[in-house]
Amino acid sequence: MSRLSIVEGDITRLQVDAIVNAANSSLLGGGGVDGAIHRAAGPGLLAECRRLGGCPTGEARLTGGYSLPARHVIHTVGPVYKDGESGEPELLRSCYRESLRLASEAGLESVAFPCISTGVYGYPKSAACQEAITAVNQWLSAHALPRSIIFCCYGSHDAGLYRMQLTRFA
Ligand code: ADP
Repeated sequence: MSRLSIVEGDITRLQVDAIVNAANSSLLGGGGVDGAIHRAAGPGLLAECRRLGGCPTGEARLTGGYSLPARHVIHTVGPVYKDGESGEPELLRSCYRESLRLASEAGLESVAFPCISTGVYGYPKSAACQEAITAVNQWLSAHALPRSIIFCCYGSHDAGLYRMQLTRFA
């Protein structure tokens, strides 16, 4: 059985060990998926994030899930896309890798990712999808945890992109 799957819909509804948040470096909330996660989690999440003191691009931080169905949130800060030649691909892969490292160290079995950096941060969808799948596959080839990784696509366009790219890698 494949350890990778694609789900189409709202990541805040997923009952998994951790959902990943495409946060900004303040970790104090924002728009897009970040805003949706904070709204669904409630004020406890913001209070815990305040204590973390931010997070550099490409790194990740683990918190509780509060009122979310997910037990934890892994906050990672994706790169703002400039031209694709300013370190964005490596930083984006690092987001996936560092999130998976935290999940694995915490013994988490199931983790769901949104399409990091592809909203306000402007990363082209197809290129970001390739980096996401590359980074996750690299992790899975060397680690037993997490057992299950979900790409949570917000809309049928993203889901179609992931389906196409995953069959290429299969
Ligand atoms: P970034 O600043 O990293 O670009 P955004 O939140 O603007 O973050 O967008 C990242 C991705 O999250 C986009 O593909 C967007 O469609 C998606 N997204 C927005 N809301 C949700 C949600 N509730 N669940 C899953 N994905 C979401």
